[in-house]
Amino acid sequence: MQVLKFGGSSVATPDAIRSVASILQAKKTNEPLVVVVSALGKITDQLLQCGSLAATGNVTYKELIQSITQRHLDMARELVPVAIQSSILSFIIQQFNELEDICNSVYHLKELSDRTIARILSFGEQLSSHIVSTYLNTHGITNTWLDATKHIVTDSNYLKAVVNFPATNKSIQSVIPKQSDGLWIVPGFIASDEEGRITILGRGGSDYTAAIFAAALQASVLEIWTDVSGMMTADPREVKHAKVISRISYQEAMELSHFGAKVIYPPTLQPAMQLNIPVWIKNTFAPEDHGTIIESNIVHTKGTICGISSIANISLISLEGSGMIGIPGYSKLLFETLASCEINVILITQASSEHSICVGIEASIATKAKKALDKAFAYEINRGMVNPIVVEQDLSIIALVGDNMKNHAGTSGKMFGALGRNGINVRAISQGSSERNISAVIASADVKKAINVLHEEFFET
Ligand code: ADP
Ligand code: MG
Repeated sequence: MQVLKFGGSSVATPDAIRSVASILQAKKTNEPLVVVVSALGKITDQLLQCGSLAATGNVTYKELIQSITQRHLDMARELVPVAIQSSILSFIIQQFNELEDICNSVYHLKELSDRTIARILSFGEQLSSHIVSTYLNTHGITNTWLDATKHIVTDSNYLKAVVNFPATNKSIQSVIPKQSDGLWIVPGFIASDEEGRITILGRGGSDYTAAIFAAALQASVLEIWTDVSGMMTADPREVKHAKVISRISYQEAMELSHFGAKVIYPPTLQPAMQLNIPVWIKNTFAPEDHGTIIESNIVHTKGTICGISSIANISLISLEGSGMIGIPGYSKLLFETLASCEINVILITQASSEHSICVGIEASIATKAKKALDKAFAYEINRGMVNPIVVEQDLSIIALVGDNMKNHAGTSGKMFGALGRNGINVRAISQGSSERNISAVIASADVKKAINVLHEEFFET
């Protein structure tokens, strides 16, 4: 069993979908294949926009639905022979009528719940997977379309649903027999809760769908097909000389993606790692390129770090005050308060003097976090034991990642030396206890320069 996932750009145009077909055709294997597809490139954002326009009383959502419909119809007309187009075309129209009905309700009620957003977003993968499945079936690649929402069972956290693995594994194993030579086309990203209401697996969740299938079926490999030739030493959109990493460990790939390397959605690697399923990142537009293999026990022969990544839109919240010194419980209250508001902490630093703790969080939830902390620490703030909570904005995190770091002293010296020489001010520093990453918080305006300076320092000399 092999599981392949094709991302949004890999199904964005008729030519891209033709490349997908030739990649599948070239697979010389007797193993069954599960192929997970994302929505056509940019469609998820546009669907989200339809919902928000309708919710704010802006009728232009209708035009947007029109243009999205047109794009899907054009795609189907170009890919599927005229004589057998009618059923896919009417399916597309029927789906978009349903979407418009839902958006009309949002428009009238001025109400857009997470449950409705999940429903609206689900159209993207429903449609792309049907188009790909029909195209392949009409071009000699016989396949069965499989409804992921019937097999991936989650809780009711609609936009970032948590998978019930025992139920999901059982369901997937019952529908895809081990001893078969079939090909299944599966929409990524979407699932449903125990009541059968649609949920989604978080942005980037198609990668995760593929990992869920790979784990349930104990696949021999999980291939992530995208628009670059593998995981690179830095985001190729930011760093001109970024290089493909041909082999990398699960842990390193996880750290890089956690710190912003968008090429793979971080939760994807967990199920693969547990079962030791290799993850192979490949380029749909250059299938002959080797790509990146992610697996365990990689021994790097050269270099202490394998990559640099960054996360934008970070706020830094500092809890400071002389009253904190030597008194246990401050950090407990800090983290409990953040956890109770479901605020995810991306980075933590504590000064050794113990009188300051900084946490890096997503900027969009900084106000909520400050409010909660002001309340939780009101007593201490009023008595001057803790300073008023400070939030710093317009920050980013840059991270250096590499399993080898622990065996080599001097990585952080080299990193901060290079940043210092180039006038980049570091606001906070954190080193993972795994010694697999060093991260720094800097002004967002400095990120591009910082990544390039570090890339030169570690990879280009
Ligand atoms: P897909 O639609 O196939 O899921 P994504 O846009 O999610 O593709 O991910 C691929 C993109 O990730 C690349 O086009 C690249 O710009 C970006 N990216 C960011 N960091 C890295 C990195 N370290 N290596 C490779 N790609 C990266
Ligand atoms: Mg992606």
